[in-house]
Amino acid sequence: MQQDAEQCERYGDQYIGGAWRPSGDAGSIPVLNPATEQVLATVPAGGAADVDAAVAAARRAARVWGATTREERLALLTRLRDGIAEAQDEITRTVVAELGAPVGFAAAVHAGLPLTVATSYLALLAEHPFEERIGNSVVLAEPAGVVAAITPWNYPLHQIVAKVVPALAAGCPVVLKPAEDTPLVARLFARLVHEAGFPAGVFNLVTGTGAAAGAALAAHQGVDVVSFTGSTTVGRQIAETAGRGLKRVTLELGGKSANVVLPGADLTRAVNVNVANVFANSGQTCSAWTRLLVPEDRYDEAVAIAAKAAAKYTPGDPADPQTRVDPLVNAKQLARVRSYLEGALAEGARAVAGGPDPIPELPVGFYVRPTVLADVTPDMTVAQEEIFGPVLVILPYRDEDHAAELANGTPYGLAGGVWAADTDTAAAFARRLDTGQVDLNGGRFNPLAPFGGYKSSGLGRELGRQGLEEFLQYKSLQY
Ligand code: NAD
Repeated sequence: MQQDAEQCERYGDQYIGGAWRPSGDAGSIPVLNPATEQVLATVPAGGAADVDAAVAAARRAARVWGATTREERLALLTRLRDGIAEAQDEITRTVVAELGAPVGFAAAVHAGLPLTVATSYLALLAEHPFEERIGNSVVLAEPAGVVAAITPWNYPLHQIVAKVVPALAAGCPVVLKPAEDTPLVARLFARLVHEAGFPAGVFNLVTGTGAAAGAALAAHQGVDVVSFTGSTTVGRQIAETAGRGLKRVTLELGGKSANVVLPGADLTRAVNVNVANVFANSGQTCSAWTRLLVPEDRYDEAVAIAAKAAAKYTPGDPADPQTRVDPLVNAKQLARVRSYLEGALAEGARAVAGGPDPIPELPVGFYVRPTVLADVTPDMTVAQEEIFGPVLVILPYRDEDHAAELANGTPYGLAGGVWAADTDTAAAFARRLDTGQVDLNGGRFNPLAPFGGYKSSGLGRELGRQGLEEFLQYKSLQY
């Protein structure tokens, strides 16, 4: 259902060199509301011309921005953080509209988390040792150069802030290419950067498709660092391109994270938290615990708890504060998730909640049923591949060695959970997992801890001190 094109905003400009300028490329991208399927706005489909202009502006700004003092950068980043704080309601409304996120979750996470992360970098910038004496050397941490930030749609502002803020803190100018589905919150962010008063060219925004704008930016000779979040397939292409150009690359890719409930853990709590974790953001979370691993003698009990918990998650209108499950971002994701579910049932899995069928009460919008799959074997497609929808698979294990083997038995290694009778037991097991983050007995998210993947889940880290260091290079002076 497409609304009258006259009713939607038609943006024709990109933020380049400190001003909104008409796009130099032809074409536009419609931005849909996933709950209504109506066109909210159109944005320019930037390509080589816009990317060239944005990278040139960033290069012109690089030397001056790289030579600013810590205090100068801190003053501007504090203004940007304050702008993000003042715009919380507008950010929430924008993400509800273009991603379809439920309003409560959007306020707490899509608007709140970027504020937390931006704030964390003020403290990190204030204390970071940009100069260090090592023996007869003084080691300088200098900006790594012009950064290309390419971001996805699933946590659209968080992923922008987690790249752009540390890059700016390190003294690097940035060209941002946001996801096609969520460019409006990226435009809002560009406005906040402008209002904060950053020098022209320090931050630039080019909207466009991945194949045109994204690929042109990742390959551009004027870019020194590519920081990418998205699919493993595109991540590999970017790493190849970056390798040819000898660019530094940071990749935050997919996941198929395991939540392991050890004997002696509180099974009911562990399963309920897992269901909430995997259904949040409609399962469109790279670090979601999409595989629940339980002792085989408690398998049926775990399945029953999960099915009961899942029944409370009813998809609905994202603008309604009661809604807990939102639509998927677009028709392609909906078709993809449904096809994984159909494939799972054909392979012998059993849906104890949800399933691939459409929801008759929600004929409009990209809605899928929150689903729990039992009788899943480790080699099934749904136990191996990232689905990126509200789908939990439950697998039984024989003993702890088997649990570790299953948890490590996918190409991914982004996150995970371990539940045990005590923290020491959980921590000992977590050391056996090939993954970048593990929450013990429901340990909460820490914005200062490095976030990133082992194996095919990525290269490098975001957040915290390690996230800042991705944008620094070192020069040693001996005397
Ligand atoms: P994607 O990897 O295609 O897109 C992510 C970003 O990369 C977007 O800005 C896109 O325009 C850009 N891009 C696409 N092709 C490019 C190219 N050749 N060169 C440079 N940039 C390019 O991801 P998607 O299509 O949005 O989602 C597909 C799957 O990716 C999802 O189903 C999910 O499995 C995974 N994903 C993971 C994350 C994560 O946080 N790890 C986020 C979003 C999607």
